[in-house]
Amino acid sequence: MAVGSEAREEIRPPGRSEARATAVLLLAGAGLVALSLILPHPPGGDLTALCATAAGMTVVGGAVWFLSARVPVALVHLLLAATALVTGLLFVESGLAVGQYGTIFTWGTLISAYFFSRRAAAAHLAWLLLVYAGSLELVESTGGYSPVTRWIFSAVSLTVVMLFVNSLASRRARADTRARHFFDLSQDMLCTMDMMGRCIEVNGAWERALGYRPVEMRGRRLLELTHPDDHAHATEQALKVFGGGDVEDLETRVRAKDGNWHWLRTSSVFEPDEELVYARSTDITSQKELEAEREALIAENEKLARSDALTGLPNRRALDDQLPREMARALRAGTELCLAIIDIDHFKTYNDTFGHLAGDTVLRDCAAAWDGALRGEDTILRFGGEEFLVVLPDCPPGDAVEIVERLRAATPEGQTCSAGLAVWTPGETVDDLVARADKALYAAKESGRDRLVSAAA
Ligand code: GH3
Ligand code: MG
Ligand code: MG
Repeated sequence: MAVGSEAREEIRPPGRSEARATAVLLLAGAGLVALSLILPHPPGGDLTALCATAAGMTVVGGAVWFLSARVPVALVHLLLAATALVTGLLFVESGLAVGQYGTIFTWGTLISAYFFSRRAAAAHLAWLLLVYAGSLELVESTGGYSPVTRWIFSAVSLTVVMLFVNSLASRRARADTRARHFFDLSQDMLCTMDMMGRCIEVNGAWERALGYRPVEMRGRRLLELTHPDDHAHATEQALKVFGGGDVEDLETRVRAKDGNWHWLRTSSVFEPDEELVYARSTDITSQKELEAEREALIAENEKLARSDALTGLPNRRALDDQLPREMARALRAGTELCLAIIDIDHFKTYNDTFGHLAGDTVLRDCAAAWDGALRGEDTILRFGGEEFLVVLPDCPPGDAVEIVERLRAATPEGQTCSAGLAVWTPGETVDDLVARADKALYAAKESGRDRLVSAAA
């Protein structure tokens, strides 16, 4: 609650509206005097005095208008009381106990009833009626009602005006206060902006989320706080809002007072009559962080799902992604694509002799040695067990034989391996190509192992 009333005081300089209304009262009063002198009027008034009083009202009214932002409320009370006194003076100077100047009393009562508490408005009215009584005493009554009757009529009519306007104004003030509390209690960051994108008013949620007090945001362009990478998108959306078009929620990074960037999701509407934009932003920084974490986890998972835990090489699943791509590329570029399967010889015996853990080491060492012996564009993946698959894009069969022989020669721990090589024929499926390479591998095993056999096309 304290936040709300504090923000209200900061945003609206005290005395401004009251002071301007009082300035208008003085200027309009002076205008009324001028009009009454121009138009046909009863004789007997002191013209010089009336002109001087009107001139004085004009000067003071003008000064109050221009200095209104700096006029404190107490001075407005004084000015209103003085205006009542000056109106009494106008009665005396005009020599008329009834007439147009009574209107100034009505205007003054409207102002005090609208801007001040009932008690203060009643005090102003009492003072005004006292001044009126004094002026009636000084001015000679000309026919009709007696001064007392006139005074009673005015008192009743002005009291009704004062009570009516004051109750309307206080009802409106209570509604404003309630709206203000909701405005400040909202978890959403609310903001009104002018056509230049400058903040007019923001609620307390801005301070809670980003550290900016309402007074610091006033007159500031939101774009100043927006991340440079989001400027173009934010400007484009702002133009759409001002054009009255439908806009999707805007997600931008905004700099908090402590220098950190916060993600805000903002929805806005343009109010053409007021030429104002109403914007509601939500801090979605933690949601964005969670999303980023989730995406990183998914990417990591996908990577894990496509790699072999023991050797770190891609696994069979990666082959299903990669080989069709390589086939399409080979077709486009008119290059040759080769595939080799390498299988360690008598690996079961190795395991049986040295143990499974030693076997694992051999698998890891083979993977590292073969991966290191490949060209940059080639890929080796673990096909399963002690079988590895080598994809050789843009590789004529002669070069493929050379590469596979190089790999076989790099087999560590004194192991040997056999290999089957197949050259892809356009139109052949992944499974058919692998099957042909596997058949060649089988032939290599059958014919004594430790060798490479190329498949027939
Ligand atoms: P061949 O020369 O005919 O290929 O004989 P081989 O013994 O290598 O082939 P076989 O298919 O009979 O045996 C494969 C062996 O590979 C059996 C299995 O224990 C071993 N193996 C498969 N995966 C792993 C693994 O992840 N770690 C270890 N240590 N051994 C494995
Ligand atoms: Mg084997
Ligand atoms: Mg095998």
